[in-house]
Amino acid sequence: MHEWALAEAVLDSVRAEQIARAGQRAGRVVIQFGELQSIDPDVFTEGIRHLQSVDDDLNLEFVFETEPATLKCTVCGHGWSFADCDIDEATREAIHFLPEVAHSFIVCPSCGSADFRVDQGRGVTIESIEFTSAEASVRPEGEG
Ligand SMILES: [Zn+2]
Repeated sequence: MHEWALAEAVLDSVRAEQIARAGQRAGRVVIQFGELQSIDPDVFTEGIRHLQSVDDDLNLEFVFETEPATLKCTVCGHGWSFADCDIDEATREAIHFLPEVAHSFIVCPSCGSADFRVDQGRGVTIESIEFTSAEASVRPEGEG
C-alpha cells in the first residue's frame, strides 16, 4: 500500500535521526500533508500506528498539518495559491483526488497559460522532530 510505504519511510527517517543523536529520544513529529496529496491520511496514520507497535525503540506522537498548495506558471513565472483559484467545489474535490486534472480547469491568473506546475502541496514531508534527552543515559557529575 502506498500509504504504508510512506509511513515506513517516515519512521525510517525518524529512527535514523534518533540514532544520529545518541542519548536523545524522538517525541513529537510534525508531518505535513500537501493540500493536493493523493494519499489517505487515515490509512497513513494506521500504517504509522501498526509499524510503531512492532518497534520498541520508537515512542512517537504525531501531529498532522496541511501544507497549502501553491502553483507556479512556467511561462511567466507568476505564483499563486490553489485556495485562490476561481473554481467550484466539485472541481476542487476532483483536483484533490487527481491533481493532474488541474490543468483542465485552472489557468495562470497573470498570463492565462495552462502551463503551470504545482510548486508546493504535494506529497508528505516531515516538518519537524522534537528530541528530548533520555534521563537514563545522562551520567551523574563526578562519576568515574
Ligand atoms: Zn503566467
